[in-house]
Amino acid sequence: MARRLEIIQELKLSYEIPYLTDRGEIIDSTAVHINEQRQGVDISYALLEPTEQNLDELFPSSGIDSLAQMTRRILRDLGMDPPRIILQLWQYSPTTGLYSVEGRAPVNKQRDTVLIILTKTPFIYKFGYELVLWHQAMHAKDRWEHRFPSTHPLVEAGEWLDALWHFSIDGRLQNWGKPHYSRAERLEEATRVLEELSQIKEPQARARELCHELWGKEVTLAQLVEIGRGLGVEPASEV
Ligand SMILES: [Zn+2]
Repeated sequence: MARRLEIIQELKLSYEIPYLTDRGEIIDSTAVHINEQRQGVDISYALLEPTEQNLDELFPSSGIDSLAQMTRRILRDLGMDPPRIILQLWQYSPTTGLYSVEGRAPVNKQRDTVLIILTKTPFIYKFGYELVLWHQAMHAKDRWEHRFPSTHPLVEAGEWLDALWHFSIDGRLQNWGKPHYSRAERLEEATRVLEELSQIKEPQARARELCHELWGKEVTLAQLVEIGRGLGVEPASEV
């Protein structure tokens, strides 16, 4: 029987926008270890305890088969047909979480690979993977179609930028009848984020206006940065 944790391939993905470390190092690529191929998707595992037993308990083969199929179907439904899809699954740890709860979906510079990073969190147990996959796939779609740059997955542009991007993403998913977060949830997120930025006057009203303006509209990073400038905020890093 094949050992599921064996490294069958090592890949390097390069990005247009690098990650800058605290020490000022520029990191413009990530190394990804592929452990398995399932349903035409490369699977990579990041476990706290890298044993076959732990893997089978956390990510049983049949579950990963259906997750891989779901990922391919969602990307196809969204008009993406990348030569390579990688699903990277992280075991949840409250202390060593590298990525945000919702995951990440970087696309490489050459636009031939979509990497979907998911953490198996209590959130996932509650809501299942489908909603999270649709959401991440939309972030990937905007990058795939060059409305947003190919960005190293550790780059944090700022919560305000994500909150505005989410108006666009969830509104489009709603228009297409796909799983999405509600307008009320996204408005709440944006209001909270804008309230935390001291330079923004009347954050509640601004959040409502921006929700109205962006809900379901295709946007580019340049447009969101422009809106941010109008609010007096800049992206946290060079995006
Ligand atoms: Zn998001």
